Amino acid sequence: MIAVVHHPDYVAEAPRRSNYRWGKNGAIRDFLIEEGDNIGWHEPKQAPRAWLEAAHDPVYVAEVLDARVPPEKERRIGFPVTATVARRAQVVPAGTYLAAKLALGCGFAANTAGGSHHALAETGAGYCVFNDLAIAALQLAREGRRVLIVDVDVHQGDGTAALTAGHTDIATYSIHAEKNFPARKARSTVDVSLPDGADDAIYLDALGSTLPPLLEQFAPDLILYQGGVDPFGGDRLGRLSLTEDGLARRDLLVAELAVRRGVPMASTVGGGYGDDVLAIARRHVDVILRLGRAYREGWKRWNPADTGGVVAR
Ligand SMILES: [Zn+2]
Repeated sequence: MIAVVHHPDYVAEAPRRSNYRWGKNGAIRDFLIEEGDNIGWHEPKQAPRAWLEAAHDPVYVAEVLDARVPPEKERRIGFPVTATVARRAQVVPAGTYLAAKLALGCGFAANTAGGSHHALAETGAGYCVFNDLAIAALQLAREGRRVLIVDVDVHQGDGTAALTAGHTDIATYSIHAEKNFPARKARSTVDVSLPDGADDAIYLDALGSTLPPLLEQFAPDLILYQGGVDPFGGDRLGRLSLTEDGLARRDLLVAELAVRRGVPMASTVGGGYGDDVLAIARRHVDVILRLGRAYREGWKRWNPADTGGVVAR
């Protein structure tokens, strides 16, 4: 059974004047419901305001929660922050945190939303309101965890890098298309910039040579995985040329490295853009299912003698 975190508020109605495809989270939920008993469902509560303020400027937190974000910030975000959007923004980080806590107990858990890696201290950006990855990581670090955020979205995890900079118990890894948004990149612990059109072979070679040394050096006790599916060749906002098989091998490469080291993982979704919302939701669900399967099968293979600690079921 794969532990999945979901909340009804994730499936927000699209605000007017929005280009963002809001149907994605509902479609992800529906595909996972079709999995029946393979999925164990968990519902987060809202994130405490203090958690939001630990990552973001309290002025910006208040603007979002009161649904009075200034127009110039809404332009950077890409949609208006209504009361519905604000409620969603407050519950998603708690979902990523809950997935992390579940993963620490059972090996792997997935949040059906999140991965809002562009949100900065004083403003959201690039369809991201609050940075759930940074909020969850900062809270987990306060609880004594060493957290590695592995961001395989085609866009750089600039907000996550900026909001967690200087925290010795948090490391950030971002592998992305160099020429893509954001124009001004932040500095992650490790950044891997790929040229336009990079295919499966180039991508997997870069990932496979740069992630293992960081895992070795930093020795995390938890990975937060931003599993964006926008490196896919057909993505409207990606600039890379990965195939479906390439995305699968990407996820399995990270999962195997983590499982071999006995490191639990919580995944979030991330970018995935185009007209076919169902195809994109399906790609996100495939990430969740293959990671869940990799943990269930891999744990026994790589840690046969270990019955305590992390037990993937
Ligand atoms: Zn993206």
